[in-house]
Amino acid sequence: MSESLSTDVLIVGGGVAGLWLNARLRRLGYSTLLVDKGVLGGGQSVKSQGIIHGGTKYALSGALTGASEAIADMPRRWREALAGNGELDLAGVRLLSDAHYLWSPGTLTGNLTSFFASKAVRSRVGQVKGGELPPALQDPRFKGRVYRLSELVLDVPSLIQRLAELSGPGLLKAERIEPLQENGELSGLMVDGRSIRAQRVVLTAGAGNAELLNALGLAQPAMQKRPLHMVIVKAPTLKPLYAHCLGGGSKPRITVTSHPAADGEWVWYLGGDLAEASGVARDEASQIAAAKKELAELVPWIDLSAAKWATLRIDRAEPAQSALARPDNAFVAEQGRLLVGWPTKLALSPDFSDRVEAALLRDGIQPQPLTALPELPRPAITGPFWEGLV
Ligand code: FAD
Repeated sequence: MSESLSTDVLIVGGGVAGLWLNARLRRLGYSTLLVDKGVLGGGQSVKSQGIIHGGTKYALSGALTGASEAIADMPRRWREALAGNGELDLAGVRLLSDAHYLWSPGTLTGNLTSFFASKAVRSRVGQVKGGELPPALQDPRFKGRVYRLSELVLDVPSLIQRLAELSGPGLLKAERIEPLQENGELSGLMVDGRSIRAQRVVLTAGAGNAELLNALGLAQPAMQKRPLHMVIVKAPTLKPLYAHCLGGGSKPRITVTSHPAADGEWVWYLGGDLAEASGVARDEASQIAAAKKELAELVPWIDLSAAKWATLRIDRAEPAQSALARPDNAFVAEQGRLLVGWPTKLALSPDFSDRVEAALLRDGIQPQPLTALPELPRPAITGPFWEGLV
């Protein structure tokens, strides 16, 4: 096969970043082709906790600075999109929770005192008690304080489904992706024998960006992976909870999001400190034992005797950076016709698109007259990953 196609922007990687960018560019009148070698949304995106952070938690480490501006605006932008009157029409995407909670199981720690000393935080955070507590914490034995953040939690499979609907016909399942060079410059990509020319090529393949850069003979931008060992628990006794449980340090002791299972039960997806370095070092059985111990201490009133448990290893892929830096903004690097990036958070996908759009505008890239696409093999779309695990 030696089909020859052309498009304004060729996007490689259909996680939330690539799909969001694709839908935004189509709205602006650009022709696009999005190529994925796996399942749309099936990388980090579906395995994320789906929280649309506004950056408030960074104040825990004193890092809520001017650099947090992009993330601070994300909840508003997503809310408008979900209401059908934003930059994309995401009406119909399932909202799991209108709020996300910070939960301190003990008395206020030093950390929290400085946290609430910040004016930026006080205006965004309100304490909740009694019947306002998340259902899973409404028990007479509950001790501690809970603060409500105006940050959404989304059902990622329904988000990916909607973004795929907004993608139009230009979705292509790929096996082999190679550079297409003309006059010594990148002019597009060879995808399974099809030559695809584009005004711009954008790599949004998450952890796959490193391999793609390698295929293009590029060493920059460097990528880092942060491995996580998440825990999944499903039980008839679980009620929804979307909360960061604070420990002594700047990182949450445990993060909990709740996801609907097909049989009507709730699945809790646990991350935070539990899933980081020491959790990564544990095998599956020890990691489940550690999670059981945490839940027995934190929510002893929940009967988990009939629970089903599993773990999931997943890497966060980000631009290489200092361990101290917090990803408050999406990252895009440019080299000629090529743009490469990571949103660094699902929530920052709109910021990622802004940065690519700004580069197109700066370079005077205009939509070219459309040529109809032939029938193309389409990638599959992710479903709820937890269904196969518990
Ligand atoms: P991905 O979702 O990884 O998508 C990459 C796509 O590229 C995939 O479809 C893959 O098939 C494709 N691909 C890979 N290699 C190639 C290749 N060589 N050729 C073609 N296609 C390729 N962020 C938040 O904002 N809120 C959260 O609550 C949150 N929780 C998280 C929890 C966990 C456990 C993890 C791991 C991350 C979390 N994140 C969260 C971060 C968020 O998931 C990611 O920043 C975001 O999903 C990255 O999206 P992406 O589109 O760049 O990458």
